[in-house]
Amino acid sequence: MTALQDNLAKLNGYLERFRQSGIQNRIAGQDATGAGGTFQTISPVDRSVICDVAQGTAADIDAAAKAAAKAFSDWRDMPATDRRKILIRIAEGIEARAEEIALCECWDTGQALRFMSKAALRGAENFRYFADQVIQARDGQHLKSPTLMNVTTRVPIGPVGVITPWNTPFMLSTWKIAPALAAGCTVVHKPAEASPLTARLLVEIAEDAGLPPGVLNTVNGFGEDAGKALCEHPSITAIAFVGESRTGSLITKQGADTLKRNHLELGGKNPVIVFDDADLDRALDAVIFMIYSINGERCTSSSRLLVQDTIRTEFEAKLIARVNKIKVGHPLDPATEIGPLVSQEHFDKVTSYFDIARHDGATVAAGGETLGDEGYFVRPTLFTDANVQMRIAQEEIFGPVLTSIPFKTEEEALQIANDTPYGLTGYVWTNDLTRALRFTDKLEAGMIWVNSENVRHLPTPFGGVKASGIGRDGGDWSFEFYMEQKHIGFATGQHNIPRLGTL
Ligand code: NAD
Repeated sequence: MTALQDNLAKLNGYLERFRQSGIQNRIAGQDATGAGGTFQTISPVDRSVICDVAQGTAADIDAAAKAAAKAFSDWRDMPATDRRKILIRIAEGIEARAEEIALCECWDTGQALRFMSKAALRGAENFRYFADQVIQARDGQHLKSPTLMNVTTRVPIGPVGVITPWNTPFMLSTWKIAPALAAGCTVVHKPAEASPLTARLLVEIAEDAGLPPGVLNTVNGFGEDAGKALCEHPSITAIAFVGESRTGSLITKQGADTLKRNHLELGGKNPVIVFDDADLDRALDAVIFMIYSINGERCTSSSRLLVQDTIRTEFEAKLIARVNKIKVGHPLDPATEIGPLVSQEHFDKVTSYFDIARHDGATVAAGGETLGDEGYFVRPTLFTDANVQMRIAQEEIFGPVLTSIPFKTEEEALQIANDTPYGLTGYVWTNDLTRALRFTDKLEAGMIWVNSENVRHLPTPFGGVKASGIGRDGGDWSFEFYMEQKHIGFATGQHNIPRLGTL
């Protein structure tokens, strides 16, 4: 039996229950059907139906929000050490079911197993990391004044909504849900309609770990329906959102009447800038990894290569040779580097840029084609001879598609790098330290790596500027979102209180 056959056999075992009874919503620790009936989740590998999924509507969101509101005070007031134990048990539960999570995620999203097995474990790491922050999450300061002992404390903000996208959905959900639970908030999670499987596994693992009913509720459904109702619900105090920039704008509008606090992690068109003095072999590895791993369906992907004209020809030649050797295939084959794109809609969007590139005068130097007709497979693609005005240099394609743009000087590189609506990440390759300092200071991005691919360190701030988002996750920044600062002033004596009505 090959490794692929072995993985398929295991997957079939894991999917059997979903095929039998579909995916229900989970509200207050109970399975619940959706008021909107059901929808189907489809595998991008062969377009087969995986299972039916409960389609939540405003009525289901209302039930889930009420359950989260009811569970809130007990969860908030649970001793931090007990909350910590539950979060650690969730991490252990994820580790124990990591294979099931990874295989289901690959089948549901088309992501290659070589990346998804790590994504499941990163989900566990998120729970462990925030479990370790629970004890001090409520700590504050004392700020003594002449007449008062001023004390600050942090309190959880209340029941929150978490709305997640389909790219690495399990890892991204834990990235939001773990700090929310650690802060003492309760959660209503609305997973992406294209990838509901692992959200169901997460809520099961959490409840098995002892999370009380109603602390985490999962309502499946569509954005314009269930998602919108979550943003509008008066019991939900905040929305942690990951998705497209234009959806982020809708989230803000929908939450306006109930004065929602929003955390928006949105799209990107991130530059990787390669100067001629860089370690070009390492730069080449990083350029390839940061756009062609995870199917290029990654918000932090470096989808624009800015390469200095002195090294351009040689660098692009090496790039083309490597891109043509990237293995596209079945996501459960351990050798596969790129799997199918997540859905028909996304496949149509990504492939539409092949013609847009040609029409705008760029060269399709690699790929630019679909592969087979069973699933949503595309060849890894490289556009060269591009300039900053082209749509392929401005718009988030969100697939294994790289646009290469040449530059002459550092000033020109900076101007091109900043000339998009987005500002999530940037990657700079140079061995000139002073240039790196100068350049990173002016680069409009929330996160920048110098001589490195994206290496996530959980205590560091994660988030974007411009159309890439508002707010930061990671370390204590996550708690700043899920918690509210409170000030209490204690009089230290009998100071003079201004007296009115005594004249
Ligand atoms: P999307 O915006 O279409 O959907 C994301 C989620 O929002 C889904 O659950 C969807 O149902 C929901 N939604 C849609 N309309 C809604 C509405 N009106 N109200 C409430 N919810 C609504 O995004 P996608 O296509 O699923 O994901 C890809 C996008 O996510 C890309 O743009 C990518 O860059 C971005 N992303 C950003 C980050 C980050 O950290 N910045 C991380 C991952 C993905």
